[in-house]
Amino acid sequence: MERMVCPKCKNPCYTAAPSAYLPCPYCGFVFSIKGPTRRAYERIRKEVDCLVLWQDRSIPSRTCDIETNGRIYGLRVAVREALSLKEGEEIRIKAPSLGLEEVKTCVVWQRPQSQGISIGLKVLNG
Ligand SMILES: [Zn+2]
Repeated sequence: MERMVCPKCKNPCYTAAPSAYLPCPYCGFVFSIKGPTRRAYERIRKEVDCLVLWQDRSIPSRTCDIETNGRIYGLRVAVREALSLKEGEEIRIKAPSLGLEEVKTCVVWQRPQSQGISIGLKVLNG
């Protein structure tokens, strides 16, 4: 058993699985030895116009939400066209109102929408 201190109520608790996310027995706050939440980044709803630069095209699109921790880490974009993207494929995103100037991203997932597709993107460093 490992002793941990709840980051919220500061009560000590004991667990056999310190890396599992479990609620605190005192206050119900979910945490593990790795920290308070599974998601290190906050997801914020943010709908702005952007350009999806894919192959030799630039496709006017709209962001749905962003994952941020000060800097943008990931985003979800609605494209009004059913592009045939592959998971892991690199595309560039231009969204000046989010401070993204042709940032390199890769496709994490894609989902068909009534009109076009919705894509989950991870911003690549460098
Ligand atoms: Zn607690």
